[in-house]
Amino acid sequence: MLRPGLLLDRDGVINEEIGYLHRIEDCRFIDGIFEMTRAFARRGFALAIVTNQAGIGRGLYGLDAFETLMRWVRDTFAHHGVTIDAVYHCPDHPSYGIGAYRRENSWRKPGPGMLLQAAADLGLDLAQSWCIGDRASDLEAGRAAGVGTLVLLDRSVRGLARGCAHWVAGSHSAIVELLEIDGRPAVAT
Ligand SMILES: [Mg+2]
Repeated sequence: MLRPGLLLDRDGVINEEIGYLHRIEDCRFIDGIFEMTRAFARRGFALAIVTNQAGIGRGLYGLDAFETLMRWVRDTFAHHGVTIDAVYHCPDHPSYGIGAYRRENSWRKPGPGMLLQAAADLGLDLAQSWCIGDRASDLEAGRAAGVGTLVLLDRSVRGLARGCAHWVAGSHSAIVELLEIDGRPAVAT
């Protein structure tokens, strides 16, 4: 039986966006991220992180640094009672990648590849799933994958607002409110 999934962007959603984060000591979690993900987990959602990592392809840091950081991120979530079921990344960039990393890849958001792989691996019902990102390209990836509920986290906004085909939330607690109002709110198209 398929279950809903929460497909989370990393930088700007889980942690503060500092540009090419790759060191544990530079990671600052955004307020409310653990409470928000716990609310989804309580409703039976699988949790996956989907993150473009062109910094690897650009040679700014290695896959080992990314994996070490993500192991620590997953451990930190576990410490807060939240299991991250899977992490997907795409190191490629079509113009800035070095060597074999310079290529188009449908895994790179706005492509849907990482989300589709998560759905296959975790047995997700994408129409019942949510995608949360802080950029239009995150939502575009969600839309291309057929994710039912798209949420843009924009911390310059107060509370909740309706975009044309997505929600805009000013905080993680606003996303929890949205989840509580209606477990799976319809997305206007
Ligand atoms: Mg982001």
